[in-house]
Formats: sequence, C-alpha cells, structure tokens
Amino acid sequence: MALKTWLQRVTLLIPLAMTLAGCGSTQPGPAPIPASSSPTPTQDTVPLANEDETTPVAGEPGSYERFDISEDLHVRKVQEGVFVITHAFPWPGNSMIVEVTPSDLVLVDTPYTPEATRDVLAWVEAQLGERDITAINTGYHYDNLGGNSYLIEQGIPVYGSALTAELLEERGEEIRAMTLEWLQAPQYQRYREAHESLPYVAPTHLFDLDEGLQLEFGDETVQVYYPGPSHAVDNVVVYFPDRKLLFGGCMIIGWDSVGNTSDADLDAWPDSVRNLSQFDFDLLVPGHGDRLDPVLIEHTINLLTEFRE
Ligand SMILES: [Zn+2]
Repeated sequence: MALKTWLQRVTLLIPLAMTLAGCGSTQPGPAPIPASSSPTPTQDTVPLANEDETTPVAGEPGSYERFDISEDLHVRKVQEGVFVITHAFPWPGNSMIVEVTPSDLVLVDTPYTPEATRDVLAWVEAQLGERDITAINTGYHYDNLGGNSYLIEQGIPVYGSALTAELLEERGEEIRAMTLEWLQAPQYQRYREAHESLPYVAPTHLFDLDEGLQLEFGDETVQVYYPGPSHAVDNVVVYFPDRKLLFGGCMIIGWDSVGNTSDADLDAWPDSVRNLSQFDFDLLVPGHGDRLDPVLIEHTINLLTEFRE
C-alpha cells in the first residue's frame, strides 16, 4: 500500500507511530511520520493508571496495581503472579512475566533494550526473590527480543522459532536502518543512540514454527502456538491455560490503528487472529497498548478489515 494512502487511513497519529516503530518493518523508505508530529516519547502519551480505582476489572486499563521502575519502564500486576511490563522507548511496547512455580518465572518477549531488561529482572528479584527464568521470543522484531543479549549473558534460556532466528539474521539491519530514520529528530537522540548499538541476538533454544512448543513447570503448562502469518510472518502467541491468559503480542492490535503493515501478511492476518478463538482466555496481552480484554480479537479483525476496504 502506498504510504500516502496508508497515512490517509490514520486517525490517531500517536498510537500509529508507536505501533509503527514498535513493530518494525522490512521496507526502508521515507520516515512515515514527520518529526514535528511524532509522539512525545514519554508516558504522557499513555493513559496512566487511575490511582483512585479500587475495583479491578479484568482487562480494563487503569484497574491494576502499577509499579514504576524508571521513567520509561513500568509494570502492572494483572493477575496473581502475572506482570505486564511496558517499556516506552520511545514507543510503549509490552512484555510479560508469569510466576509459574515458586521457583520459576517465564518472561514473554523483552523490553526494547538489555538495560531495561536488566532493570525489570532486578525489580522482579526484589519483589519475588531469586528465580529460574525461562524466556520466550514471539517474533524477530526488536520489541520482541531487544533484551536477549542481557538474558543470554545471565545464562537464561531463550526460546524462539527457527524462523525468528533466520529473519533476525536476514532482515534485522534493514529494520534498524528504518528505525533510525524514524528517530532523527533531536529530541530522540538517546533513543537513536540506543537503537544504533542495540545488539540483535537470536533466541538460543529454537523450535519449529509449525510444531510450536510446550513447556512444563511443575503442574503448569505453557503453550507456544503459531496461528499463521500476521503482523510479521513469524509471530507466535503464548498461552497459559491454567490462568486463561493469552499473550498475543504484535499480531493483536491494542491501539486504534493498524500501524505499519509493510512486514505483514494482510491476507492471512485476520484468519490467524480468528485461529486464536480455540483458546479460552480472560486476559489478552497485545504487543502495544494498555487494553488487555479479549475483545481485542474482534477489534484487531475489524481494524484489519477496515484497513483493507
Ligand atoms: Zn510490536
């Protein structure tokens, strides 16, 4: 789709830009968002938790206990033992920690950088004590695995598909070049510098995309499933059946616009999302955005349908 047409369809520039950069692309081109209309890279652009909220409602933004780790980084406790991490660097992106046993944590995706990943793990250790951590990457974009180098230094096993490792190798530098173009404005200097030197490190434990992956921790099962091509051709979801929790990642759109589709399979994406209805879940974590409700399935399909009309 031509950039112009694509921009005409955009109603909310801020979420668009967040989704754009967070999810990367493989087609270098002009910066899609003029610097003057780029989002201010602070959490002011995100609806903040309402501190007066006393009745948590599953899936509703602002209804969860929130912990600020740093200016860019916060965590929401969305269920007992489940923490959604949001790193705004500068675009907010989500990763997640699940306490699967008293000795094990599963980390799904990572914050954008090794430093933020270190800070999150330090926070978790302070909260929960020392744990064995197992990490899972849901795709090859840097908002899925930017923290891998830190995890691997710490001896943490990182699971990902063989296709994710292959795409990172083949297309990673194209995505870096495009991201640096988006971050040319002076106010983005620190983000630009970080993205220039961000190590792109593949997962260490590879699985076949079509076979998926099942991990057992005590009595708890964690399922990694590939529903078909979507936002990127390698995006997988991670399901925690005992918790009715699904990490949908970047194939689930948490904002009000589709964002960058240049790395997407628009024909297959809606059906891939429909494939997720086989899972029973109350909480659905998108790659970007504060909403965590299952209606995001319908929301994503509707946005994709409108986008293609
Ligand atoms: Zn993304």
